[in-house]
Amino acid sequence: MTQLLQPDICVIGGGSAGLSVAAGAAAFGVPVVLIERGRMGGDCLNYGCVPSKALIAAGRHAHAVRKAAEFGVFAGEPAIDFERVHAHVRSVIDAIAPNDSVERFTALGVKVIEAEARFVDRDTIEAGGFTIRARRFVIATGSSAMVPSIPGLVSIDYLTNETLFDLTRLPDHLLIIGAGPVGLEMAQAHSRLGAKVTVIEAARALAKEDAELTRVALDRLRGEGITILENSRVLSVEKAGQGVRLQCETQEGARTIDGSALLLAAGRKADTAGLGLDAAGIAETTTGIAVDASLRTGNRRVYAIGDASGGLQFTHAANYHASLVLREILFRLPARENRDIIPRVTFTDPEIAAVGLSEEEARKRYGHVEILRWPFAENDRAQAERATTGLIKVIVGRRGRILGVGIVGSGAAEMINMWSLIIANGQSLRHLGRAIAPYPTMTEIGKRAVIAYYTPLTRKPFVRAVIRLLRRLG
Ligand SMILES: Cc1cc2nc3c(=O)[nH]c(=O)nc-3n(C[C@H](O)[C@H](O)[C@H](O)COP(=O)(O)OP(=O)(O)OC[C@H]3O[C@@H](n4cnc5c(N)ncnc54)[C@H](O)[C@@H]3O)c2cc1C
Repeated sequence: MTQLLQPDICVIGGGSAGLSVAAGAAAFGVPVVLIERGRMGGDCLNYGCVPSKALIAAGRHAHAVRKAAEFGVFAGEPAIDFERVHAHVRSVIDAIAPNDSVERFTALGVKVIEAEARFVDRDTIEAGGFTIRARRFVIATGSSAMVPSIPGLVSIDYLTNETLFDLTRLPDHLLIIGAGPVGLEMAQAHSRLGAKVTVIEAARALAKEDAELTRVALDRLRGEGITILENSRVLSVEKAGQGVRLQCETQEGARTIDGSALLLAAGRKADTAGLGLDAAGIAETTTGIAVDASLRTGNRRVYAIGDASGGLQFTHAANYHASLVLREILFRLPARENRDIIPRVTFTDPEIAAVGLSEEEARKRYGHVEILRWPFAENDRAQAERATTGLIKVIVGRRGRILGVGIVGSGAAEMINMWSLIIANGQSLRHLGRAIAPYPTMTEIGKRAVIAYYTPLTRKPFVRAVIRLLRRLG
């Protein structure tokens, strides 16, 4: 005998997307049921953003120790205790976990069911002994690592983002399939903590971002000793002693690569297996659940958001989706997803951050566009920090409208915030021109790029040098 629940909203999945919907609905006093089959907090908290950024932070500290001599501070090669690194990563997760816990959501008024959810028909879900008939359903079941069909892969113990952060011993030689953001962020973090790292990528590394920006980061990663093989395919995988052996077709020909562990970072697939989408009349595409611009599925009662909907797979995109469906469900206000305003960040060092259209997209959409650039090397704060690698690229349309911005360099992920505001509000260079950037901050590079728009002369290196001198003189 199952118990019948009839809330206004039933959310499936307690990750970034689902928790945002549940918390938002509960804040307005709307009855909401949240169903989670695994760990509350989903990928971001347990297997994604949080542990990866904690590991990257540990790697950054190791790197800073190595680089300290450039500042006249001598510390030598850092000693890495990987068990302690692992404990640091765990403690960061533990510090954040209460925000996403069953206890917190129950206290907010959400009915949390810890079980697997499944549609039994267009209007009904079953989970953990409950039958739920809600006014609206929100599918927020996320994604997991894609397992490529490579001969031999199933017979070895490979790592994914769900197991990587459980390691208490640093792999001697970490092999990574896939040079997207996850693959390269983890490559650099492990390399800085002392592992040898080889990344194999079938196409171009960081292919979704502007090559002019990614080249800068890739040069740095390679300079730090990471091997990144682009346009290379893994043909087969086998066990080799305690480790793993890859047979690869690289640009330089066939290669055998031995490593001690293998991480899969070759893309993500939406988690929809066992969800009963057919019973609910919901279709899927190759990337995820099929939705329209307002994130509704073919079943008008059901929305799909976050990674499960197959768009940009970021926590902030999941949160944005949540705000859109809440707007529709709670206030009956029309909501349309605008992907142009969702920032994209790769947390390598240097970071790569972008928002709006890339140069290529802008040229396709508008024909003529202007590109403004300013290098970090021309920024006084960057000089002081010895962080002179990188540049900003601003894509400008008619009447100075800012269509897109890309930054590669130290602090790019923080800097892109200001540009997100500008792009979201459809603002132009004129608006930016009114703002005053404190000196000396890296953010000034944006302002300098804009000045270059008004004064083409300043694009000449000699004139730039004079400007810098004058600024210093006050
Ligand atoms: C290594 C890594 C690093 C990342 N770093 C960043 C970053 O720095 N910044 C960023 O913005 N994004 C980052 N991401 C992406 C980010 O983690 C995801 O975009 C985000 O977690 C998506 O949230 P979601 O709610 O859609 O899915 P998830 O967080 O995956 O949550 C889905 C939840 O649904 C549950 N579920 C699935 N099926 C069912 C079912 N049938 N019944 C009940 N429950 C179910 C799952 O157990 C899961 O808890 C990273 C991802 C990875 C893998």
